[in-house]
Amino acid sequence: MAPLAAPRTRARRPAGQNVGGRGARASEGNQGPERAPAKGSLDTLAQLDQKAGPSTATGAAAKLQKRARSKFFSVPLATSLAELRGPLEKSYRNTIYCAHRLVQEGDQLRADVAGGAGGYCGNRWCLVCSRVRIARAITRYAPAIEGWRGYMVTLTIPNVGAAELPGAIEGMHRAFTAAKRAIKRTDRITFRALRKLECTHNQVRGDFHPHFHVIVDGEAGARALVRRWLEAYPEAVAAAQDVRPCGAGSAKELFKYFTKLVTKVQTKGGAVISRVTPPEALDVIFRAMRGRRVGAPQTGMHAQPGAR
Ligand SMILES: [Zn+2]
Repeated sequence: MAPLAAPRTRARRPAGQNVGGRGARASEGNQGPERAPAKGSLDTLAQLDQKAGPSTATGAAAKLQKRARSKFFSVPLATSLAELRGPLEKSYRNTIYCAHRLVQEGDQLRADVAGGAGGYCGNRWCLVCSRVRIARAITRYAPAIEGWRGYMVTLTIPNVGAAELPGAIEGMHRAFTAAKRAIKRTDRITFRALRKLECTHNQVRGDFHPHFHVIVDGEAGARALVRRWLEAYPEAVAAAQDVRPCGAGSAKELFKYFTKLVTKVQTKGGAVISRVTPPEALDVIFRAMRGRRVGAPQTGMHAQPGAR
């Protein structure tokens, strides 16, 4: 598991480039092992990847290297998750074979889905598929957010144990929806936001920390959101709810992996070290988030023209 210490891959892409595909998005919550990957979606992105380089040959090689690195981190992770023999075992195994075989057509490479194997798994823990998904989300939403007076809001609740996590996440979604409604109807504040659910694992205490990161348009909406959140969760620590103006690149930050595979841990000596999140804890998180959309546009978000 040691290689997991550096799973950060970024998809760099000029803004506004069309890399979107509705079919691909549908596969985001795909836990069905037998489902074929959506055609013309992740594959299209892979092709654009090949084209993005300075020249076709070197660009393709660099992109292949990046993908190989993602595979290198994904396979041991998916293997150790599958070995837990839990309800997601088949889905974890699909990740081991994600984009297993590539075919070249002219100067384009795509995952070979002929024969049923070798396509994209579409799972959220897969680093190969995450790279594609992050690039797509940035293309869809970053241009809209650039026109906002953006505030980054972090909404937390007190940590919960593994058994409580699914219910806690359900409750957070309900609370957010209620807060949004109250802000619009009662507070009479225009509310536009982009929300993302994250969950980290506290290795010292052994519990879980689900939280929302939200980019809100305008300070009034951002402050109202925190106020309403604390009404729903009076036991949440007010100081733990964070509001700050968005810096450059906030949208990109938002779309990164929804759960950190590596967490920072403070040792007794005070030093901060990185530690890989144990597969047992990741499995709890992935099961709790099963079938859920992790990133969700709120009112007023529209996909960019051409980004479908
Ligand atoms: Zn995959």
